[in-house]
Amino acid sequence: KRYTDRLRDNVQQSIEAAITDGLTGLHNRRYMESHLGALVEQAASRGKPLTALVLDIDFFKSVNDTHGHDAGDDVLREFATRIKKSIRGIDLACRLGGEEFVILLRGGSEEDAWGAFERFRINVAQYPFPQVQNVTVSVGFTEVRHQDTPNVAFARADQAVYRAKHQGRNQVLSHEGLIRSGVLASAEEHIGDVELF
Ligand code: GH3
Ligand code: MG
Ligand code: MG
Repeated sequence: KRYTDRLRDNVQQSIEAAITDGLTGLHNRRYMESHLGALVEQAASRGKPLTALVLDIDFFKSVNDTHGHDAGDDVLREFATRIKKSIRGIDLACRLGGEEFVILLRGGSEEDAWGAFERFRINVAQYPFPQVQNVTVSVGFTEVRHQDTPNVAFARADQAVYRAKHQGRNQVLSHEGLIRSGVLASAEEHIGDVELF
């Protein structure tokens, strides 16, 4: 290959590496945060919702403790594969770090997001992960508002994850639903840009 071709390939590989999570091949947090602003603007200009979901594998520490760190890594890779199979090309999935993932869903309503991730949750709970067998996930989600920074949107989704964990894990909850049902006070809606990660 010519020098300029190799140079271009190297640049492309470096860009790929900078925006990809090494373990799972999903996008990384940096990529997702740099794209969120554009996705929010696009959703607003089209008058369509954008949903942010935070997924946190349940009792993952005990997976590592019981089966070892390598088995834990296998679970993370297989979990990422299940995510890739469950979302459309226009949606964006990333690994935030550890056993936490974020998905941005374009265009659907709250019920659409709930239905899709309720199916995903059941699919994960029934999937025979190698060695480990049973893995479950807690999911919290929220509609992204045009004034949201990534941290503000994720903090709302994370509050819903926290409730899901508290209520027994292996469930999907929306921040908006928790406000409607009075579980979360609407004052907690405005939690500012608290650094939760
Ligand atoms: P909860 O149901 O409340 O979410 O409990 P948990 O055990 O999943 O949560 P906790 O935050 O206590 O533990 C997360 C664990 O994830 C701890 C850490 O060792 C493990 N972990 C983080 N990153 C990696 C990784 O890249 N590979 C592996 N195998 N484990 C990881
Ligand atoms: Mg966690
Ligand atoms: Mg966890």
